[in-house]
Amino acid sequence: MDPKIRLYVRDQLCDAQIISLERNQANYLFAVMRQKVSDHILIFNNSDGEWLAEIISGSKRVVRLRCLNKIRPSLAPPDVWLFFSPIKKSRTDFIVEKATELGVAKIFPTHSEFTNSERINQSRLQAHAIEAAEQCGGTYVPKVHTICKLIDTLENWPEARNIFFCNEDNLKPIRNLSSFPNGAWAIFIGPEGGFSQNEKNHFLKHPKTFSVSLGPRILRADTAVVSALTLWQSNFGDWI
Ligand code: SAH
Repeated sequence: MDPKIRLYVRDQLCDAQIISLERNQANYLFAVMRQKVSDHILIFNNSDGEWLAEIISGSKRVVRLRCLNKIRPSLAPPDVWLFFSPIKKSRTDFIVEKATELGVAKIFPTHSEFTNSERINQSRLQAHAIEAAEQCGGTYVPKVHTICKLIDTLENWPEARNIFFCNEDNLKPIRNLSSFPNGAWAIFIGPEGGFSQNEKNHFLKHPKTFSVSLGPRILRADTAVVSALTLWQSNFGDWI
């Protein structure tokens, strides 16, 4: 029977490597999924791809696995970062989950002038990214960073990275995406209140900014994240 369970691990993966699973994963395997010794599962990390592994010992507290063979090589995401403003908890979770499924390299919760949620639970959001990667068959979990400040970020911007500025003032269709350069990108989505005029000016005077429309309607921030990533992926990413 094909193993269906996929788990992300931090350890290095190679032939015959023994892996110990953390308590919550052990509990998931034995108590929730009713696995037992000698069953097979799939494990992956961010660099060694996906491996078939055998459960060699375990309980609900600790499980040991042995790597059997590599099933798939690691697939790194395209070089795109996502900056978004935290919104309500469940919608922020949704953004992290969908961004992981659609494919991003890094996720940056960002504080901007009209951000309504000041704090995030970074480790909870990281756990959401792990769960999303486990269920979507990806072999990469994007890092969810601690919250950063929008203006500081723009002022210390890495020279070579283009800015995909989703600008709600720009409601005309974009016809010139094909003229955008390839290479490293970062997508910026504003909070429910949008970007302030001062922030928009910062974006617009930045030499790396490309101002993007997501169509003739104002989207909610979570919809805008999914739309922007879909648009970017289908023009520059690993969907093409
Ligand atoms: N309250 C704001 C809208 C904020 S929508 C207003 O009424 O103007 C949240 C974010 O989603 C925006 O800051 C923008 O980054 C993105 N967004 C939503 N709709 C968009 C559109 N049609 N084009 C480009 N970006 C959009």
